[in-house]
Amino acid sequence: MKHNYAMRVLLGILLVAGYFPSVLAQSTKKHLPIIDVHVHASKANPNIPDLCPWFLKSMPGADPKQTTSPSIFSNECPDPLKAAKTDKEMQEALLATAERLNVTMIVSGDASIIHNWHKAAPNRIIPSLGISNSKDMTVKAFEDSLTAGFYKVMGEVAPQYQGMSPSDPSLDEYFGVAEKLGVPVGIHMGTGGNGTINITNPKYRASLGRPFLLEDMLAKHPKLKIWVMHAGYPMADEMIALMGANAYVYVDLAGFIWSYPLEEIHAYLRRLIQAGFGKRIMYGTDLMIWPKLLETSIQVIESANYLSEDQKRDIFFNNAVRFFNLDPNRFK
Ligand SMILES: [Zn+2]
Repeated sequence: MKHNYAMRVLLGILLVAGYFPSVLAQSTKKHLPIIDVHVHASKANPNIPDLCPWFLKSMPGADPKQTTSPSIFSNECPDPLKAAKTDKEMQEALLATAERLNVTMIVSGDASIIHNWHKAAPNRIIPSLGISNSKDMTVKAFEDSLTAGFYKVMGEVAPQYQGMSPSDPSLDEYFGVAEKLGVPVGIHMGTGGNGTINITNPKYRASLGRPFLLEDMLAKHPKLKIWVMHAGYPMADEMIALMGANAYVYVDLAGFIWSYPLEEIHAYLRRLIQAGFGKRIMYGTDLMIWPKLLETSIQVIESANYLSEDQKRDIFFNNAVRFFNLDPNRFK
């Protein structure tokens, strides 16, 4: 019964396509490949709410005496992005979207979830091993994990949330391993959500997101390839100076492109482009449990009228292929 129905629909499509061949050509055309360099795999948590993109467009006027903390997520938009409620729902929605939009993702986070995703879609997932504190893992265990072959990238390294600079000596040997093995490293530098210190991360310091804090570490590891996650937002001056002085430093656009006001996002991206770094900017989402965020974030770049088509392709794909030493033929 179902089969018959499907056949009739298919026949209908083919007939219509016969009259309007371009319609079918357009609807079945494969999307140009996109690499999302910043995806998080985490266990589903039904308490995490749906998300309104650009929710930080109006920071709350808060007060410690108020009973509620300033919220980092809001639900006050007509069409919030639904949070996946189970691991299965997340995996299915994410991988189906990645397939449809031809997205390959660099994924860090929960090891069992990364393994599940990778097993289901090995061509869509590039596993990344994150460490932000020497207590997470010994240097030896870290090196063993990277040489075993499953993990291709180091990240997200986020010492800022623990009140630590990325140049802290306790992390130095880990960066040394990445440099020796030629493994690229993603480091969180920038903001951490409205009221992050008050709500969830008391050790976080905004000042520890300053891009210049990377310089001592980079000087010790001149061959290390790093990318600054969140593009060091909002510290464009330091970001531009750092990229100017350090030839292998790239940035990603994750997080801030769907949380801060659109005008502000475009002003920041435009500034980096204007400064000449169009070949060092990579697309990323910081996707957690809202599968639709892929589309929302892609749209931000697609709609940037100050970017040429070539610049968009660099951001979506070419820069990441170069940075991560990927084989472009693999995406054809
Ligand atoms: Zn981050």
